[in-house]
Order: sequence, then C-alpha cells, then structure tokens
Amino acid sequence: MKPTERAFAGLWGSVIGDALGVPVEFQSRARLDADPVTDMRSFGSHNQPPGTWSDDTSMMLGIIDSLLERDVFDTEDIAKRFIRWYRDGEYTPHGRVFDIGGTTAQALTRYEQHRVPAEQAGMTGEHSNGNGALMRTLPLALAYSHLPAAEMAERVERVASITHGHAVSRMSCVHYCLVARRVMSGQPLEGSLHAANLEFAELYRGRPEELYLPRFHRLLDASILTQPRSEIQSSGYTIHTLEAAIWCTHRAATFEEAVLAAVNLGEDTDTTGMVTGGLAAMIHGIATPEVRNWARVIVRTKDLQGKFKSFISKMLETQMRTSLYEKFSRLAKGAQAASPHSVAASAQPQNPGGLV
Ligand SMILES: [Mg+2]
Repeated sequence: MKPTERAFAGLWGSVIGDALGVPVEFQSRARLDADPVTDMRSFGSHNQPPGTWSDDTSMMLGIIDSLLERDVFDTEDIAKRFIRWYRDGEYTPHGRVFDIGGTTAQALTRYEQHRVPAEQAGMTGEHSNGNGALMRTLPLALAYSHLPAAEMAERVERVASITHGHAVSRMSCVHYCLVARRVMSGQPLEGSLHAANLEFAELYRGRPEELYLPRFHRLLDASILTQPRSEIQSSGYTIHTLEAAIWCTHRAATFEEAVLAAVNLGEDTDTTGMVTGGLAAMIHGIATPEVRNWARVIVRTKDLQGKFKSFISKMLETQMRTSLYEKFSRLAKGAQAASPHSVAASAQPQNPGGLV
C-alpha cells in the first residue's frame, strides 16, 4: 500500500473499530469472553442501529472538516465544530449525540459559556486523563506527517488541550501520532514504536512534562509488546487505551483480529476499538470481504468516503507544496551562503511562531 492508501485505510479502520465497540461499551471482559464480538452488532449498550459510530468518530470528523475547510491550523475553529457536534448533532450518524465523555462536556461548556480560549478549555487535573483526546487524534498524524516531530507534536498537543489539558493526555496523543505516522509511511509496528519512543523521549526531556515519562514506561521499553492479556487494561484512561492499541495491533495478523481483540477487552470498547483500528488498518489494510461487509453497514458511508477522500487529497497537496517550498528554501539558503550577507541572514529568527 502507498502511504495515502494506508492513511485512507486508517481513517476507515478507526470508524469500523468505533462502530464494532459501540453496542458493547461498558461490558466487562468476563462477559465478552463468554460471548465475544465477532461481527457488527446492533442495539446493545446505547440502543443504536448497526454501524452507528460514537463521539469518537464525530469529533474526528470535526477535526477533519476544520483541516479541510480552513487553510490554516485553527484550534478555535476546531473547538467551534466540537460545539456544533455537542449542541446541534452535527457530525453524528443520526443527527443526535448519544454519548459524550464527562471531561469533554466540561471543557466544551467552559469554552462555550465561560468564553475560555479553545486551547485553555481542557481540564488539567489528574482525574481528567480520559482518552477523549486520543480517540480523535489520528487525522493530525496523517496531515502533519511531513513536519519535524516537534512541530507535529505542538499541533497535536494544542488540539488535545481543547478538551484534555493535562500533560499525560497531551503526551498520549503525541505518542500515538509519532507511531502512526511511521506506520503510515510503511514501517512495521515494532520499528515504528522504537523510532517513535526515541523522538518522544527527546521531545519531553528538560520540559515539565518529563515528570510524566515514567507513566509511558511499558511503551518506552517496548515491554508492552510481550505482556499477557491479563496485564492489558481497557478502561477510559488514556494510557490504558494507547497501550491496548499497540498491544492488540502487534499481536494480530489481520485488521479484523486486531479490532476484535480490542473490542473484546471490554469496558471502553468503542475507543479501544477506534484507536486500535486506526493503526491496524494502516498495517494490514481493510480490503478483505469481512471488513467490506462491516464497512457497508456503517451509517453515512458515502459521506465518510467523500470526506476521507477529500482529506487525503488535501493532505497530499499540502505535503507536496511544503516539500517544494523546502526545496526552494534550501536553494535560496545555498545562494545566501555564497553571498557576503550570509551571517546577517542566518541570524534572522526563522518563522518565530513555528506555525502557519
Ligand atoms: Mg465513544
């Protein structure tokens, strides 16, 4: 698969993982062990028809739309789209919101009613480390895969902060995106994890967030890959979800195996399914008859297909433009270096904001 095909599969894999998990959300592992999910179910926990996706996909769609429609990175715009989802049911499968995480609801209320700026709306307490930012972060890994790690991480953290401001939440999104963009480029999961870990540790060394690096130890020493199932948790805690996604993806031979393993861990089944589905689809693809049958059941398939296609086209166009710009910048720098003004020119601050 080409990177763009992997990216496209990743978006679809996320939605399918989410929809497989919706009917059994909150079910215990013991209950699912007795009656495991093997196919797209209907009704269940939220009494929704088959193929219904949750808040996870809705918020991901809000981010995708902002990246599609705005020519600059704009967290206020993303926050406004989250409000349109929360208040008006935009980006939902059936026109209404049937679930929202507590931390997300609190943050969106702060943004909407107390006029807190988007990037400060997310709660920063230890108890606010649910997976509500992690579940929607994949499009940022895809869109900014061409940026240096620190620049991608900055954007990922700023989007996370709209609802989840604690360092652990922001860092879990960054870790996932560092892994995901390597997987998108075609690297195997284990190598992607190893390379992402080096970038991740480097990013946070010497920053206040360094304090929280030990929370990621089972990822950073790759011991997560060899854990028994009993050591993998699937609560709504963002590190549990991140670990479970890496673990399920690593041990599965196919996308189907990975997402079903994730959902059947129980508890936060839709989000564990979604975060796993994004990675597993980029590795294994989603072209089997079984996955096609699942995809056919997904609500608003045509809308999603159109949106994902436009997103991938724009992503490719932006990345091509950026690489051309960089090529010209390098040529220009080469010309400057040969001129007597080279010292003055290199002393100029370069793009001080660091963002478009
Ligand atoms: Mg959900």
